[in-house]
Amino acid sequence: MFKIIQALASELQSQMIPFCQKLVQTPSAGGEEGDVARILMAELRRLDYDEVFSDEWGNVVGIIKGDAPGPKIMYNSHMDHVPPGEREKWADFDPFGGVIASLKTAKVDPAEQEDTRVIVGRGVADMKGTVASHVYTGALLKELRKRHGYVMRGDYILSSVVWEEAGEMLGTIKLMDETFKNRGIKVHASVCGEPTSLRLALGHRGRMELSFRVNGLAAHGSAPWRGVNAVNKAVKLIEAFEQTAEAEKKTDPDLGSTGYALCIIGCEPGANCIVPDVCNILYDRRFTPEESPRDMVAQAQRVIDKLAAEDKDFSASAKIKEYEHVTYTGKTIPIQNYKEAFKLDKNHPLARESAAALRALGHDSTFYYWDFGTDAPVTHVRHKIPTIGYSGLQEVYCHTPLERARLDWLEKSLAGNAAIYLKVSALEEEDLKL
Ligand SMILES: [Zn+2]
Repeated sequence: MFKIIQALASELQSQMIPFCQKLVQTPSAGGEEGDVARILMAELRRLDYDEVFSDEWGNVVGIIKGDAPGPKIMYNSHMDHVPPGEREKWADFDPFGGVIASLKTAKVDPAEQEDTRVIVGRGVADMKGTVASHVYTGALLKELRKRHGYVMRGDYILSSVVWEEAGEMLGTIKLMDETFKNRGIKVHASVCGEPTSLRLALGHRGRMELSFRVNGLAAHGSAPWRGVNAVNKAVKLIEAFEQTAEAEKKTDPDLGSTGYALCIIGCEPGANCIVPDVCNILYDRRFTPEESPRDMVAQAQRVIDKLAAEDKDFSASAKIKEYEHVTYTGKTIPIQNYKEAFKLDKNHPLARESAAALRALGHDSTFYYWDFGTDAPVTHVRHKIPTIGYSGLQEVYCHTPLERARLDWLEKSLAGNAAIYLKVSALEEEDLKL
């Protein structure tokens, strides 16, 4: 069966690649995914998926119903991408051209490179290449059934969501908490299609944006002693906070250590001759499975309380940063920017069978852990659905100029996704429980 999967993947490549180019040629920044969603739904219908719909927030879902009962497996991707950045850095390539070129491109170890054919364009590595691969994984399973008598267990569920890049998991949260819940769609395992260079990703640290506001008292710049300079107070806070964060950091043997990075700082009113009375600081915080966003805020509050006890002029607050996003369907959604750490045990049947599937194809079946965050905490942590990462895209090209996807790896990931489906859907729902 795995030989046949490989043959079908190379046959379907000739349809998958032009479809992927079309996705890249259709810009779809967060809140503007409408055109790509329509193209995606049209393709799912053309390929005869049993159910195709989009929800209130614009997430797209395609389902292929199995022939026999078995676990329902979701393949999750996102439709949005980051802005293309400076045009000159793309050299002769249009960021939305989606052309195929031969370029010196990284192998699994990014230090090693080789000339290979790639699609170039914003969003192709993060993650339109995966969207195309997931769409054609369904097509491959249907061909396997039609031509080779494959009895498909469970359901193949494709989901491609809006608003992932902002980091709050908005699209996947709405998909799982509301759309699937209201429609009674059950999922027993999930494959997250963020870049893994064809390996299997088993987790990442949690992430949150920690926002500090330091309060002062405005005064004329000629007489600063009459005010309290919020920036000077912020300097004390930064020092004390980073000392505490460093001293209290935890380490997970697989995911790494608690992290903190000061990313944005600004003051108000920020004008000549005025002692600022507000200083805003934003930290990117990463944390291990034994920590939570609540712990991060509590630690920041302890530092604030200590400084306030020592200095009557010190006043500050800390919270998880909140944003408001508008979907292309016109919904305004306020959301806190955090995601939990997630980790799938190496011995969990989802990890074991996914690795067996890749081995059966003769592919790399190495486990590894992402540096960045994904939407996997929604399924794995909040909904207790075991989740694994797998994709033929490369982390090293995400959010960069000359973003690209290797044609050979897109084909391999198509076979890999289908093989994972075969192996994992052969399990019982019970086996997959976390
Ligand atoms: Zn992504």
